Amino acid sequence: MAIGLPGCAQVGGIRAKDRQVMTVAGPIDASALGMTLSHEHLFADLRPYAEQISTPIPLGGDVVEVILPHLQEIRRLGCRSVIDCTATTLGRNPALIKRLSEASGLQMLTVTGAYVAAGGRFVPPYVLDETDEELAARWIGEWRHGIGDTRIRPGLIKLGIEGDPLSATERKVLLAGARTHLETGLVIASHTGPWAQVEPGRNARCAFAQLDLLEGAGVDPSAWIWVHAQNEVRGDLHVQAAGRGAWVSFDGFRPGQENGYVAMIGRMRDEGLLERVLVSQDAGWYNAGQPRGGEFKPFHPIFTALIPALRKGGFDESQMQMLFVHNPARAFALRTSEWISGDT
Ligand SMILES: [Zn+2]
Repeated sequence: MAIGLPGCAQVGGIRAKDRQVMTVAGPIDASALGMTLSHEHLFADLRPYAEQISTPIPLGGDVVEVILPHLQEIRRLGCRSVIDCTATTLGRNPALIKRLSEASGLQMLTVTGAYVAAGGRFVPPYVLDETDEELAARWIGEWRHGIGDTRIRPGLIKLGIEGDPLSATERKVLLAGARTHLETGLVIASHTGPWAQVEPGRNARCAFAQLDLLEGAGVDPSAWIWVHAQNEVRGDLHVQAAGRGAWVSFDGFRPGQENGYVAMIGRMRDEGLLERVLVSQDAGWYNAGQPRGGEFKPFHPIFTALIPALRKGGFDESQMQMLFVHNPARAFALRTSEWISGDT
């Protein structure tokens, strides 16, 4: 299990093996995370925020029936943990995630934070009105007391940022993320840039602007995940971000993209930066308001298509362990000296 990973031994004076991850069922040892899909979605409500509030959609009775078989399938394929990255105002539903975690036997994480990308369609008024300090107080409150009345605590800070340059709201939200991170030890994962491959360098500019701001606020780059880095077509910029110590997340894998993913990940390996790479699918998405959630994207392709392609591409078992076991454990481990007991 333990392989010698640089940066694994000591983070903030805390030994990696003594660090914890906050799942929806409470804290666990980071080393217990196991094979992990680091960026997926179970359930989402993708209607504009105002509409979500004015016309709430009751959770359909078929939600568990639709999602659970997909989770059972990857459990059989060796998966042990799923990070649900559904942002706060995109239908985040901690109670449902916990229910699916219990039913599937998979460990799961949910988020705190704010999503101000997608042209602002998911931005609630309080995100515009409050200061970074007030937003951080909200998110730290979720960490301390649980989300709403669920007593379920977030395991990461999920932000949605797309500006080039960053907007004033994006800067504020990032500062709130920095404050929350420094108080809680939660990692910050930023959806970065437009959700598309745009001109070369565009997404990286958004990524580096975030990294600069966060570093200036006292956040170590290793506490920040560049989500959807695959949308940046320039591999040298992935290398640059990982070289600064950030996590580079290639998280939109679909069957048919094997060659592209093996090449992107292979470049990071060749540069000696595999220890900063996360790989996932951004799949799932039971979509509220659609019959049976619309077209649910299965979680198995990492196991049935990408991992075999990586093996064929020369990745050995220790590199596979690094990508899918050790890196997620290091990325989502709490950067805090506080030891958290199971009772919230
Ligand atoms: Zn996502």
